[in-house]
Amino acid sequence: MRSMNEKCAVVGIFNHPEASKFAYFSLHAQQHRGQEAAGISTSNGEKLFTIKDRGLVTQVFDNQKLATLKGDMAIGHTRYSTAGDDSILDAQPVFARYDLGEMAIVHNGNLTNAQEVRDLLIQKGAIFQTFMDTENLIHLIAKSDQHHLVDRIVDAVKRIEGAYSLVFLSRTKMFAMRDRFGFRPLSLGRLGDGYVVASETCAFDLIGAEYIRDVLPGELLIFEKGKAPKSIKVFDPTPKHCIFEYVYFARPDSNVYGQNVYEMRKAMGERLAQEEPAIADMIVPVPDGGIPAAIGYAQASGIPFEMAIMRNHYIGRTFIEPTQEMRDLKVKMKLSPIEHLIKGKRLVVVDDSIVRGTTSRQIVRMLKAAGAKEVHMRISSPPTTDPCYYGVDTPNKDKLIAANMTNEEICAFIEADSLGYLSNEGLLLSVNGKEENYCTACFTGNYIV
Ligand code: AMP
Repeated sequence: MRSMNEKCAVVGIFNHPEASKFAYFSLHAQQHRGQEAAGISTSNGEKLFTIKDRGLVTQVFDNQKLATLKGDMAIGHTRYSTAGDDSILDAQPVFARYDLGEMAIVHNGNLTNAQEVRDLLIQKGAIFQTFMDTENLIHLIAKSDQHHLVDRIVDAVKRIEGAYSLVFLSRTKMFAMRDRFGFRPLSLGRLGDGYVVASETCAFDLIGAEYIRDVLPGELLIFEKGKAPKSIKVFDPTPKHCIFEYVYFARPDSNVYGQNVYEMRKAMGERLAQEEPAIADMIVPVPDGGIPAAIGYAQASGIPFEMAIMRNHYIGRTFIEPTQEMRDLKVKMKLSPIEHLIKGKRLVVVDDSIVRGTTSRQIVRMLKAAGAKEVHMRISSPPTTDPCYYGVDTPNKDKLIAANMTNEEICAFIEADSLGYLSNEGLLLSVNGKEENYCTACFTGNYIV
């Protein structure tokens, strides 16, 4: 089964008169987590309203549409998926009518036993409309013999495994749940007399919400009118936070797992400068991902920092293009060097990661064509050797360059004068973390479930 709930953003707004608008702004702040589709469901206490479609948040919604999303509770989602999986059915929220009424769900993460659960449900007569793991949850909730939605949610999550940060909406309540490992982030904030949950705190900053705390791994939060949010410990927490959120995925102004992402990236760059020094005239980031780490590298090494590669912001991420040719072209469309700055210079170029090697090779070629004397590629994370099954979109192992080549071979492939990665220990030290609290599977192959 294709996994469809990958790098995504979720949001929930509870008890606010402008719920749909605040959900919209929260999704807009989190657009970097998914550009494929966007959707919002609201409730006015009697009925749920849903609008979702392919495209960016600003393309899917306008004032008129937001006005039809009535009520003071809202949940929302932006979706990222691999090319080809573009069915509108696979946009979220997933909405359903069932014996207790109506519900909508948004999900960030991947379920690792989705296929087994789905096969079992299908054997028992269930009919599926989408490829989304999330649809399993709808069926599990609908089929549970518990009488209250909260008990049905607990029933359902006990049958699924893997990564999930979920927000549920019924006609009168909102629920937020995070898997026991806390793979994907989910934070709780206060918004006026109400509450907000979101994948990243940059959403809180935009809508003026105040951060309270993270939803705990294994915790289910219940939001009900006139009451403080109720917490149920569904599972004992065993944190295994995704370290790639710090490396690449989250926005630098967000605080993820209680720490500021920009600071973490800068620390990675500082440590990279110690682990992989280079003799050079300037430090150049690959924008935007490499900027904080390049600043850290420059400050630690004392070599001047220059924004010598410009980024065209009107292009989506290059990663999603299916053919190599298109990927090559898209990198060129997106990034261009400032010849005047780099001619005859020895450069340290800092990026956050190498996946297939396409971006790095294009950048080295581009810089050399523009007259760079030497290009030393420095990567602020360890070699990406293993695919992610918990919600970050990475290609299969056979496409991951570091799974198939030595560092020397990668260096030759990307045509750089030298190549250096941050070590796994260095990465953990940069984020003040210990191996046992983080999921580092994409760098180590140590899978948790
Ligand atoms: P590649 O050209 O395949 O080596 O991709 C490396 C580039 O993709 C780097 O500049 C990263 O910032 C970026 N990147 C890394 N992981 C992802 C991801 N999961 N989705 C989109 N872009 C990514």
